[in-house]
Formats: sequence, C-alpha cells, structure tokens
Amino acid sequence: MVTAAKESAAWRAMPFGSDRAHVDVDFNVPPPYAVTSVLAACLRGPGDARLAEQQAWGWSVASRLQGVLAVARATHPADLDISTRCQRCHETLSFSLPLENFVHAPVSSPLTCEPEGREAFEVRLPTGKDQQRWLESAGANPITMAQELVMNESVLAAWDDDLFAALELKLEQADPYTALNLESECPHCAAAVSQPLNLEGALLQRLQSALTERLRDVHRLARVYHWSEAEILALPSGRRDFYLACVSRESVQ
Ligand SMILES: [Zn+2]
Repeated sequence: MVTAAKESAAWRAMPFGSDRAHVDVDFNVPPPYAVTSVLAACLRGPGDARLAEQQAWGWSVASRLQGVLAVARATHPADLDISTRCQRCHETLSFSLPLENFVHAPVSSPLTCEPEGREAFEVRLPTGKDQQRWLESAGANPITMAQELVMNESVLAAWDDDLFAALELKLEQADPYTALNLESECPHCAAAVSQPLNLEGALLQRLQSALTERLRDVHRLARVYHWSEAEILALPSGRRDFYLACVSRESVQ
C-alpha cells in the first residue's frame, strides 16, 4: 500500500480500478472535481473509512496532488514518460521520471512571508475549495486569488507587486509540484530546456487509462462468460486475471 503525505498521512491509497465504485469516477470534468472523486474513491482511513468528498475539498492543493500521486503509484508505478522538442535544434527529447521523485511532505499552513524591508505576513496554502470557487467565479485573477490567501488585513491595504512576488515565491517553495518546470540541457546541442509539466494532468491521465483498461477486461469477460458488469467488477483481482488468461489462451488456439 502506498501512503500519501500530510493531511493524507493516515490514509492509504487503493489501486485505481480495484473497487467497483471506481468505474463511476468521471474524468470529463474540470481537474479539481476529478481529483476529489479519485481521492474519495481510493483513499481509505483507519477501519477502512472512506474519505468524504467534503473533506477532500478542504485539503490543500499540495496534499490533494500527493493523494492522487499515492493512488497513481499504487495503480501503476511505472515512470512518467515526457516527450518534448528542443527549441533550438528541434530534436525530440525524452525524459523518464520516477513517480517517487514527486513525493513531497507538504508544509503546514499558514506560512510566514518575510518580504525584504516590509512587514512580514501570514499566508495560507490554497485548498480544493479555493480551486472550486475560482473555477466558478469567472472574474478570478492571480492577484485577487493571492489576496484571498493572505491573512493580515493591514498588508492587503498596502498590497503591491513586491508583496505579490514574495507570496508567489513562498507558495512555490511550499508546493513545488503543482506548477512545475523540468529544467535540463539538450543532449544534441546543449541548449537549456525548460519544459512545463502538469503533474496532476499526467497522473489523472494515467488513472483514466487504468479505468479504460478495467472496462476492456469487463468487455472481454462479459463476451465469454456473460456475467454482468457488476459481477465482473466484484471479482478479486487474482481471479479476474485468471479468467482473462483463460480467455486469451483460448482465443489464440
Ligand atoms: Zn537541441
């Protein structure tokens, strides 16, 4: 079992697709909603308690990402393969990134920002609820979003670009993987390569592929055995794999 960090410390991650309820997770919704569904479907607490969706929304964005990472590692621990092109020589560049490289124990909120020559102020980490509110209010922009996280009103009254830069830096240090850039060098022409990586998107895509694979298994078994979707999804994974092996052995004979 893979354990997620911080808020998720007491929770263990089930492999995605190992429970009937997992096929109900909808990936065709804005990512914060898919993340909440994945966390509620796949994290189990003491006594096998499920994580309530409301609780998942209240976790920091960093902890939510760690939760999805734990589920992805439990599901399919292969490296993340990223492919891009060098901007200078146009050669294809491939990176293989082990998922455990992204394991990070999120710091506790609030954090203290200490901009040079200015009054220190406290800022809290954004949560899933913040993401949800920003999604629903079309007028949200980076500055008002940041200001909602600052906990000292006196600082907000004197808000300017320097304070915003200090806040941005603090949040980046506390949560290095939500907005991530891979920095490397092109092996062909030695140009510096900076590739943005949407880790959350890549992990959700991996889980969506696992879901598709599980539904294909249902299709293969239903065709041969005429069991219902619910019956096939309820099979323990060992027996499901056994029957799948029987089906593929017979289909090549
Ligand atoms: Zn190059």
